[in-house]
Amino acid sequence: MRDLYLHDKIFEPYISKAEIDVAVNRLASEMVRAIPTEDTVFICVLKGAFMFFSDLMKQLGSGGRQEFIFAKSYAGTQSTGKVWLSELNADALSGQRVVLVEDIVDTGLTVNYLAGRIQEAGPLSLHICTFLFKAEVYRGLRTIDFKGLTIPNYFVVGYGLDYEEKGRSLPEIFKLKG
Ligand code: 5GP
Repeated sequence: MRDLYLHDKIFEPYISKAEIDVAVNRLASEMVRAIPTEDTVFICVLKGAFMFFSDLMKQLGSGGRQEFIFAKSYAGTQSTGKVWLSELNADALSGQRVVLVEDIVDTGLTVNYLAGRIQEAGPLSLHICTFLFKAEVYRGLRTIDFKGLTIPNYFVVGYGLDYEEKGRSLPEIFKLKG
């Protein structure tokens, strides 16, 4: 694979489609062993988690219910320190087993805020799942129950993740070069 040019930045290949597939399959198996997935509401955090969510749901088969929310905390390659969130369908979450499905957990600000909002809806349980986890920079107190791959503090794009709305549709993951 070759370097990738998005806006003013250069990215290099980092995680292949084959490695992504292995991680998603492993995560799905872990989930099936840990929770009754057929009786769970899965929340996809848009836009970034759309590809991971789709792959994960296909591995889990016919069970569960799917909900979607929009969250935004990044501008360019930096966190803004604030989280913007679209409406949550609280009625669909009340009294239910819920799994929040994120693309990437970095400092933990976004997931912490989202989890707080979901708790307000009164779920029976709440688990957190993320495809990528930046362990070095995570400052959250909440346990991340299901993790796909742990990565260093790189800025990455592809597999749903963008740089200024570019790169989301790539089936593999690239990291910022230099
Ligand atoms: P946190 O709130 O944990 O610091 O950051 C989580 C959110 O920031 C993610 O949902 C994602 O939107 C964005 N983000 C964090 N790290 C990266 C990254 O390396 N690449 C991209 N494209 N977005 C990231």
